[in-house]
Amino acid sequence: MRIDLHTHSTESDGTDTPAELVACALAAGLDVIALTDHDTTAGWDEAADAVAGTRLRVVPGAELSCTCPDGNGRAVTVHLLAYLFDPASHALVVEQARLRAQRRDRLRQMAVRMADDGFPVDPDELMAGLPPDSPGGRPHLARALVRADMAGSVDEAFARYLGSGGRYYLPRTDTPVLRAIEMIREAGGATVLAHPFARARGPVINAEMVGELAAHGLTGVEVDHPDQDEPTRAQLRGLAAELDLVPTGSSDYHGTNKTIRIGQETTAPESLERLAAKCTGSRIFGRSF
Ligand code: AMP
Ligand code: FE
Ligand code: FE
Ligand code: ZN
Repeated sequence: MRIDLHTHSTESDGTDTPAELVACALAAGLDVIALTDHDTTAGWDEAADAVAGTRLRVVPGAELSCTCPDGNGRAVTVHLLAYLFDPASHALVVEQARLRAQRRDRLRQMAVRMADDGFPVDPDELMAGLPPDSPGGRPHLARALVRADMAGSVDEAFARYLGSGGRYYLPRTDTPVLRAIEMIREAGGATVLAHPFARARGPVINAEMVGELAAHGLTGVEVDHPDQDEPTRAQLRGLAAELDLVPTGSSDYHGTNKTIRIGQETTAPESLERLAAKCTGSRIFGRSF
């Protein structure tokens, strides 16, 4: 059984619609994927419809951007994958709406700054291209820059302009991670820390802080992720065993926004079983086990 627990659709910053994502997963021979768009559950219904009558199952989820103390007096961004929670849970609905509105304002502001500096990007056109109420993300602006021949690729647009050290980067006010863990637990879901030690992405938390999150109800850690090398994975695997956290593996597929293939990294069936056993908020879409 091949299981990929971290993918993005056009409802956030992927390039496949939820239905295309399902088709892509089937073509790749996968049995289960999780749909984990940033700060939205808007793709769930389309994914549920698309798997009907196929052999694929979809774990409904989301990826929440959070802020976390790094244990050294500073704060770092961490990504929390949330699975099988109730999407109608009030606190979550309110917080996700806040985050989406903030993401849209920020994306527009970044585009306005670039346009003011003479870049051929149109903030109105950029925003009009997003699905209604979608959070959007820097990859949308990166693609606009590629289309305008201002960068050769999405990666290059990030490296030159949009990365966290870049001239046009604007920060977000994310959810405190302990609050996010609590909100997902209250909504009957489970949480997995996404790419916890992906150091190339920027500052990360330390092992001690992972222990603290575990003590506050974190369910798992993403061990096998394209942005983590083998020594890092070994360290995380050890940490998961020590802290009784569920180890997962996933591609973090974003369609053509990244070069990663769906199913490039996978999760063991027993890990999915351990996660699902903790959840009461919603059910896996598709044929039953
Ligand atoms: P945002 O959520 O708007 O802050 O943008 C972050 C998103 O951009 C991440 O979720 C990734 O999908 C994507 N991303 C970050 N760094 C890069 C990069 N170097 N190349 C391509 N995509 C990236
Ligand atoms: Fe993303
Ligand atoms: Fe992430
Ligand atoms: Zn992701």
